[in-house]
This record gives sequence, C-alpha cells and structure tokens, in this order.
Amino acid sequence: MVELKDVSVTYSSGVDALEHINLKINDGDFVFVVGASGAGKSTLIKLLLKEIDATSGTVTVNGYQLGHLKKRQIPELRRTIGIVFQDFRLISKMTVYENIAFVLRVIDAPRKYIRKRVPYVISLVGLQAKANSYPTELSGGEMQRVAIARALVNDPALIIADEPTGNIDPELSYEIVDLLRSINMQGTTVMMVTHEHELVRRFGGRIINITEGQIVFDDIMEGSDDEFLEELEISRISENLENPENLYHES
Ligand code: ADP
Repeated sequence: MVELKDVSVTYSSGVDALEHINLKINDGDFVFVVGASGAGKSTLIKLLLKEIDATSGTVTVNGYQLGHLKKRQIPELRRTIGIVFQDFRLISKMTVYENIAFVLRVIDAPRKYIRKRVPYVISLVGLQAKANSYPTELSGGEMQRVAIARALVNDPALIIADEPTGNIDPELSYEIVDLLRSINMQGTTVMMVTHEHELVRRFGGRIINITEGQIVFDDIMEGSDDEFLEELEISRISENLENPENLYHES
C-alpha cells in the first residue's frame, strides 16, 4: 500500500517538484501515472524508494512510514518493491537466468530456493527458451520481460515500472502492459509511469495525472479498445494452454 498525505518536495535549488500530494494506492491496485516531462513523476518514484525525503507531509509504503525509517531499514523497504526501468539495466555479462538469480544471491537466499524460484519467474514472463541467452541476444521486448522477472523474483508487494515501454516497439509495448496487468491479477500492486497516452487510453483503468507537481486527475477510465484487449487476452490464454507451466502455479 502506498499513501501520501499532503506531501510536498522542494529541491535545494528551490524547485517545487511536488506540491500537496494526496494519494492512496491500495494493495492489489494497478495504476498508470502520467504526466509531461518535468511534472514530478521521477520525484514521486524517488520518494517511494526513499532516495529523497519529503519536505513536508507523510509517505507510507508497504507498511513503512518513511519519515520514521532508520537508514538501516531502507534495504528492507526496498526489498518490498520491484523496479522496472526504461533502459532494462540488465548485466550484459550474465545470462537471463543469472541476471535474475543475482538478485536472490545478494540477499543470501538459499540455493535450493533460487533453483526453484528463478525458473518459475522466467516461465511467468514466457522466456523459458531464452534462459541461457545473454541480453545482447534478446529483443527489446524480451529484455524488458527479463527485467520484469527480475523485479518479481523477490516477490515484492509493489512493482514500479518507470516508462517500461519507452525503448520498445509499439506493438510489443501492449504485451508488456498486458504482462504487468497479468502480474497484477496475481495480487502484486503495480504502478506504471508512462507518458504514452495512447497506451493508457487503450487499456484504461486508474489513471493519475501529475502536472507541474500536482495531481490534476485521479480517476478510473474505461479502455477504448475492448476488442483489442479481448484478443490480447485470448492469445495469452491460448499461449498458456500450450505452456501449462505458465498458468501461475508454482510446482
Ligand atoms: P518527471 O519525472 O515527471 O520528468 P521530475 O520529477 O524529474 O519530473 O522533475 C520535477 C521537477 O523537479 C522539474 O522541474 C525538475 O527540473 C526538478 N528536479 C528534478 N530533480 C531535481 C534535482 N535533483 N534538483 C533540483 N531540481 C530537480
């Protein structure tokens, strides 16, 4: 759960990046955050990760009141959040499998768990055939799937996707949003930051618009293209029927 109560952020330069933000994202929600460049979207993400502090107001993320969080608790907070970046940020010398396993190794997860968990999240994003490939051998869409699997491997309560479709062909962008939505349907809260209005319009759902540091719109809009979404759904279901391990049940 994410809750901001009357939150403002003023950078030391004097720029008011966020002003009196009130926002609640419940567990299990899927939200799009939209806004022009410079609107305050990155500042919002940095706040949630406690990379910066609010100048005033209170921020609560996954049960942590960030104003009261001790420095040593920050890694604990961040483990409850999975992040997906526009530029994927995969390690080029590591295979798909290793890129994902790495996240669990740094937190000393038991080897047995890693051997079970990593193939599972790889199957969730449909990349079983690419587990031993290197990032350079993948398409942009596939690289983003790896990044999503990596964000998921820790079983975070919240996934923040920061312009995840920014470096991907438009057709594949829909698949990435669809994948994030299917992950959301399994219970993970998803916050997707984007400036691609067409994408948002097509999918619909809860849309939060930040303009010049303020929330100017926060409401649910219907998707514009139900037929398109139905097709996407049907293709995903048929794909899962061909690959039953994709049906989200951990063996
Ligand atoms: P967005 O992610 O929507 O493009 P940002 O959150 O990056 O917007 O920026 C919001 C405002 O804060 C902008 O005016 C930007 O120039 C300013 N800003 C962002 N980061 C800093 C910083 N570290 N120091 C000073 N001003 C900043």
